[in-house]
Amino acid sequence: MKKLGFGLMRLPCIGGDGKNIDLEKVKEMVDLFMEHGYTYFDTAYVYHGGFSEVAFRECVVKRHPRDSFTVTTKLPLFSNPDRAGMEKIFNESMTRLGVDYIDYYWLHALNRGSYQYAVESGAFDYLRELKAAGKIKHMGFSFHDNAETLDKILTEQPDMEFVQLQINYLDWEDKGVQSRLCYETATKHGKPVIVMEPIKGGSLANPPKKAEKLLKDHAPDASCASWAIRFAASLPNVMVVLSGMSELWQVEDNLSYMDDFKPLCEEEYKIIAEAAENIRFAIPCTACRYCTDGCPMSIKIPDIFAAYNTMKHDIHKKHEAREKYAEIVKGGSKADDCIGCEQCVNACPQHLDIPKLLAECAADLS
Ligand code: SF4
Ligand code: SF4
Repeated sequence: MKKLGFGLMRLPCIGGDGKNIDLEKVKEMVDLFMEHGYTYFDTAYVYHGGFSEVAFRECVVKRHPRDSFTVTTKLPLFSNPDRAGMEKIFNESMTRLGVDYIDYYWLHALNRGSYQYAVESGAFDYLRELKAAGKIKHMGFSFHDNAETLDKILTEQPDMEFVQLQINYLDWEDKGVQSRLCYETATKHGKPVIVMEPIKGGSLANPPKKAEKLLKDHAPDASCASWAIRFAASLPNVMVVLSGMSELWQVEDNLSYMDDFKPLCEEEYKIIAEAAENIRFAIPCTACRYCTDGCPMSIKIPDIFAAYNTMKHDIHKKHEAREKYAEIVKGGSKADDCIGCEQCVNACPQHLDIPKLLAECAADLS
């Protein structure tokens, strides 16, 4: 299988409404992707408030033969569904996707806490039943925690076939994310890895100036994103690297180096390591948006964090960041409208202290 997958979590939208996906634009993007022989698509029950799965049906399922694509979707345990709740979610995903089987079905974003719930609620057994019934072809889980927890899960659930991990060159040695250790743990258990967040929520596509210069000096025509995706795809036990594409030019850029993929050479590894030393994100938010649906104040958390990062990474962009912030909060909640309920904290796979960070954003951006 070609090593590039189409992530359907950052699709182009109309009027800034995450549920109003620009289907005509997505059709162009998926057609180009598939014309080049790529087949792997990754969505989830919760992406785009449920409309990612619907967009996939409209743009791919209704327009391409079933054997020309593979689709992954995910069962969320965020709201602690019981067995009946899991069945409801699965059936809803099948209807939204318009398929009669799912190629890869994952438990979504497991960590220490949700793993415990998955065991107690019978979620793993539910996956096994779906597989035995032919409703899903493969089962596994996406994961956000440390290598020790991953080792425990793979030891206790040895029939899980794949794991989806956050891997990128910045998090490779990160003490919290532990990309390298998690990758090595999955490899030790013989589980192929699907990579998510190879560009760290898009941020490695526009790294700070010094890092960008290092990459551009070596390869002026290569995008910064290409370095990040090639880093993940160069790992031998990686089956697919997901790229959450939002624009046609991003598809074109990805195809330009993945069609005839060449792993990183020794010199490129050195350059990437040096670039990583020059990248520090003020707020390491990956813009996954898991925090936004449950926020009682409807605060646009990742957008506010992006504006804050713009300011912190380039002092000359203070004015631009404040304008961006004013635009984000216009007619809605501001950063300091946060009531500290911590719903978002529990949902955040990056374990960010969101209320505290919002207070800092409010102080600097208002
Ligand atoms: S803590 Fe603040 S930002 Fe988080 S969900 Fe509650 S109100 Fe929203
Ligand atoms: S704050 Fe956390 S949950 Fe929200 S978008 Fe960023 S990484 Fe995702």
